[in-house]
Order: sequence, then structure tokens, then C-alpha cells
Amino acid sequence: MSSPTDTRSRDLQGRAAQLIPGGVNSPVRAMRAIGRDPLWIRAGDGAELVDVDGNRYVDYVCSWGPLIHGHAHPRIVDAVCEAARSGMSFGAPTEGELLLAQEIAARMQSVEMVRSTSSGTEASMTAIRLARAATGRRAIIKFAGAYHGHLDSLLAEAGSGVATAAAGRSVPASPGVTEGAAEDTIVSPWNDSRALEEAAEWAAERGGLAAIIAEPLPANMGLVPPQDGFLQEVREVAARCGALLILDEVISGFRVARGGAQQLLGVSADLTIMGKVIGGGLPAGAVGGPAELMGMLAPEGEVYHAGTLSGNPLAVAAGLASLSMLDEDAYMRLAATTEKLANLLAAAAGDRPVQVVSCPGLLTVFFSERPVRSFADAKACDLDAYGRWCRGLLSRGVYPPPSQFEAWFPSLAHQQEQLERTASAAEESFRELE
Ligand SMILES: *Cc1c(COP(=O)(O)O)cnc(C)c1O
Repeated sequence: MSSPTDTRSRDLQGRAAQLIPGGVNSPVRAMRAIGRDPLWIRAGDGAELVDVDGNRYVDYVCSWGPLIHGHAHPRIVDAVCEAARSGMSFGAPTEGELLLAQEIAARMQSVEMVRSTSSGTEASMTAIRLARAATGRRAIIKFAGAYHGHLDSLLAEAGSGVATAAAGRSVPASPGVTEGAAEDTIVSPWNDSRALEEAAEWAAERGGLAAIIAEPLPANMGLVPPQDGFLQEVREVAARCGALLILDEVISGFRVARGGAQQLLGVSADLTIMGKVIGGGLPAGAVGGPAELMGMLAPEGEVYHAGTLSGNPLAVAAGLASLSMLDEDAYMRLAATTEKLANLLAAAAGDRPVQVVSCPGLLTVFFSERPVRSFADAKACDLDAYGRWCRGLLSRGVYPPPSQFEAWFPSLAHQQEQLERTASAAEESFRELE
């Protein structure tokens, strides 16, 4: 196997490292988790990427979720160009914002009103602030391995001695996060009902639980779906405690089904966080919920949220164009593509200690002998083998998520031929590990 050249990527990375921390504007892009430097991208079309050295890849990152129609879909590009010609931003309401809110509310059963943001992180911040204001309480339960953006209060991890079962005070997961910001967040292991009950009790004894926040289909530790009944239990615990259930559908919303994971899994949130697909590749997020809660946001109510570029006309145009092509047929096609890919990858893996986990539109290849049900299971994967396998894929024209803890994002642009090429590259890369 001859590795493709990456001269230009290495040159750009060397220069960028002097100007941008790590050379990247978001850490996972650096590819350190798979033991190599990033490939710098020149362009994308459909399901494929071209790097600055001219190498072509079948792309399974797809910008980490927004590109459900693949790269540079002509209808989205046209919508953005048309919007741009009428002005990039006004700081005043535009009709597209209304249409996007309408489209989201029509799809998401638990959403009556929508507030747009520029990112999923901001939507999380706003949902947490709203939940605390609505309940007059402080504590938040989040699940280990879930990601809700880079806000201080959720950059928390279980303190030592609380990682297994009993809930307790969390500690900052990053330098620069104060203990104060982390201590109102309780980190509970995913798919563990006992621990969740204990966490809820612990919160109740200390001033009360404001909200439980969860990714209904967690995809930031690799894809780790809820075990039967777990999400329903999360819903019940929140209701019983008088706390809000915040479902983070930044990835799952508008990807796994028309009405998101809430529709697919039959569970209903009090507040829903959205992003990625609703921006069609431009910066966008949103928080949505019933009018009673959403009406607490300024200027209707007193809970502050704002954003210079919230509901930006270009982002809204891209989101609307993207959503307009997501009908029932599109979701069936995406589910079929994902299933085909999952089956091909499982066949390529053969009887190796690998778990291919998928749901419509998302997939993870875990290098684990055992099923992965929690963040602890995910962390126990053979991360070194995953890294070597990914390097093998890259050298064979397939661009996987460069971390065991990120999901693959097949798109509606992925064709059978590309899936087959992926399967051959996967099999050769598996063989190379031996
Ligand atoms: C990406 C992501 C976020 C954060 O969204 P940004 O737009 O990157 O701020 C929040 N929650 C989940 C589940 C995500 O995957």
C-alpha cells in the first residue's frame, strides 16, 4: 500500500500551528486521537471530499452532521446565494426565521415555539438557563459521555468515587471551568437506572433538580442507544422530580426521523435543543418547547437570550432548503443507506472483536469484544486499533470520524458504489491490523 501524499496538508498544518492553537478551530479536527495530522480540505461535492493535495475520499464526517444531503447540494447553494444577494444580516426579523420556526414546530411534536441561535452550544446554554428559571432550582443531571456543547456548566465530569454508581458532586472537565460552575451538574452513567435514581435523590436533597439533559441517541461517545425503557425512565424521573427533560437533538433532530429521536423512540421533551441539520452547513442552532416555557424568554419574559447573528438569513435559507428535501422518502433512503453500510462494515469485520452499532443516519464501529452500553464501555475500546484502522481507511480513500468517540454520518448523497468502496477499504484495513 502506498500512502497518498500529504505534502500540502503538512505544510498548511505547520503554518497554522503557529497561528491557531493546534492548527485547528475545533479539537477533533486535529486527528490526534488517531495519531496523525489533519488533512486540509480543498472542496467537497456530494459524498466526497478532496484534500489540498488532490486526494479524494468518501466522507463519513460530513461536517459532523449538518450535511445530510452531502456537500454543496445545488439547492442549498442556490438558496444561500440568493439570500446573500439580498443582504447578509440585518439585526431585524426576516420572513425566513418565521418559516424555519414553522417548519421545526411542524416536525417536532413537543415544540410549539422556537428561538434560533448560532450554535448548538448556545441553544444548550439557553435551555439550561430557561430550565433553572422555570423551576427556581439549580441542579442539572447530565449523562457521562454525552456532549451538549462547550458551556462551562456542562464541562463537568463525575468526581472520583462517584464514577460507578452513587451520584455526587462533579468536578470541572476542563481547566478554566470553576468548581462552582461544575458542582451544580451531576454526571450519571448512561443506561444505568439505579444511578439515575440516586442522582435524582441527591439533587432533591440539595435544593432540587432543575433538569435532566440527555442526547436521546447519544452519539458523542460513539453511538450508544438507550437500552429498552431507559429513556422512558429518564422521562419519568424528570416528571416525578418536577424537573424539565431537555433532549439534545442537535445530532438526532431531523436526521434519524422527520420528528427526530423523540418521534423514533416515542418520548417527549420539555425543551429540545437543535442544531447541525437545521443550518444546512451554516452556523445555526435552536431551542424549542411549549409556549408556556418559551414565553419566558426575553423580550416576552425575563430570561435573557440574544445573538447578533441568531436567525441569520443565510443560515436560515440553508436550513430551510435542507429541510425542504427531507420528506418521508428521504428518511427511508437514509435509513436504508445506513443499514447497508452497517451490514457491509460488519461483514468486513468478520469475526474480529468489533461491534457495529447503527440507527437511521448514524453508525459507530466500536473496537470492543463486548456490546457498548456506556461511556465506560466506550473508553474500554481498543483505541489504538481504531486509530490504526482509521489511518488505513484514509490511505484508501475513505474519511472516517477520526475518533472512536464520534459517530459516522452517512448522507443522502452516499451511493451504493461508494459504500462498496468503503467496505473494501474497511476489510483491507482490518487485515492490515493483524
Ligand atoms: C455538536 C453538538 C452540540 C454543540 O453544537 P455546536 O453547534 O457545535 O455548538 C451540542 N449537542 C450535541 C449532541 C452535539 O452533537
